[in-house]
Amino acid sequence: MRSWHINGERLLDDLNHLSSFGARPEGGIDRPAFSPACSEASRWLAERMREASLGARIDAAGNVIGRLGPDDGSAILIGSHIDTVPGGGPLDGSLGVIAGLECLRSLSESGANLDRAVEVIAFSDEEGAYLSMLGSRAMTGTLTETEVDTAHGRKGDRLADAMATAGFDIRKLHQAERTRQSMSNYLELHIEQGPVLESRGLDVGIVDSIIGIDVSEYVLHGQARHAGTTPMGERRDAGRAAAEAIVHAFDDLDLRAVPEARITFGDIEIKPGASNVVPGHARILSEIRAIRIQDMRQIRNGVDSAFDSAAARHTVRLEKRYLSGDVPSVMAPDMIDLIGQICIDLDHKFMVMPSGASHDASNFASLVPSGMIFVASRGGVSHHPDEYSEPKSLVTGTNVLFETVRRLLARSNGGSR
Ligand SMILES: [Zn+2]
Repeated sequence: MRSWHINGERLLDDLNHLSSFGARPEGGIDRPAFSPACSEASRWLAERMREASLGARIDAAGNVIGRLGPDDGSAILIGSHIDTVPGGGPLDGSLGVIAGLECLRSLSESGANLDRAVEVIAFSDEEGAYLSMLGSRAMTGTLTETEVDTAHGRKGDRLADAMATAGFDIRKLHQAERTRQSMSNYLELHIEQGPVLESRGLDVGIVDSIIGIDVSEYVLHGQARHAGTTPMGERRDAGRAAAEAIVHAFDDLDLRAVPEARITFGDIEIKPGASNVVPGHARILSEIRAIRIQDMRQIRNGVDSAFDSAAARHTVRLEKRYLSGDVPSVMAPDMIDLIGQICIDLDHKFMVMPSGASHDASNFASLVPSGMIFVASRGGVSHHPDEYSEPKSLVTGTNVLFETVRRLLARSNGGSR
């Protein structure tokens, strides 16, 4: 099989151009889903697709889709996202989309006759300005009516209104759903967003699993009382119960010894919030990440019982509520092997590793054989203006993605190319 390469200069130029949409004067990018900056970036991307004769379309969820090859039949999907967190960097998501675009352009220029289509997709609202992974979940049909109806932004603005302002109708969201038969594989190139590849001097990471996330809310109702006159034994202190529950939840996790699991209590609210009042109310958000679903369940049980017993000890009433989450997902062993073989053939140093961040790929992994490729992030920094990867890494990752697509196509062509 003759080897082809992508056009590295064109890849880097387009990445650079994309980073101008929503760029802040002080550095970093503000490009939340359905914002004017994100819509502008989507239109620019669609225009690049049209220039390359990839028949760009934007679906009912705001996903931007380009396609090369036959109009009918299943397609190899290459996806990621172009929305950013507030003050985000130029590569998270953007790399995967521009790399996909570049792969399709290079395929088209190689004159390959495609029996199977290849698509590049920029998914809407991966970062969850309104609803995390809205676009890929709409496409894979996993959104529930309740979460769509209640989805809102940080300022309380509703998803429905944000979509309407950007020219979309939330009632048509279901039209973005696709059949399993319209997809044959899913591929995503992404920056690692962690320090592992850089610290080990590796070119490529091949993802074997994507961590699941569980966000739950614990509300403790005690009794607000005078801090001086209420004896310690007579308090129903919601703050104390919260503190104990949190410590015990961490202790429980330590005992389980699941190294890749995480618990974070990043949002804690104590009321009434005065130094001389016993807290009558506490609200704590817990975020659990794990790679295996059974670990996830056990850790959540551990957090639940830490809150149950702390609440009982301090006679406070506990309300538990599951808020949101993504189940852990695994990449196809066959895809891991294929990408590994490509790294060997192209002489790139690689490792197989889990992803601690969630990605659009999670939603496709249970439907079609899916693969994810990581490249090193400098200092492991992401979701930050300083997010950076060496241009050489970006080109290497895109070439590995390109070769993966070519070999998948060669399989569907019966290896005739
Ligand atoms: Zn991302």
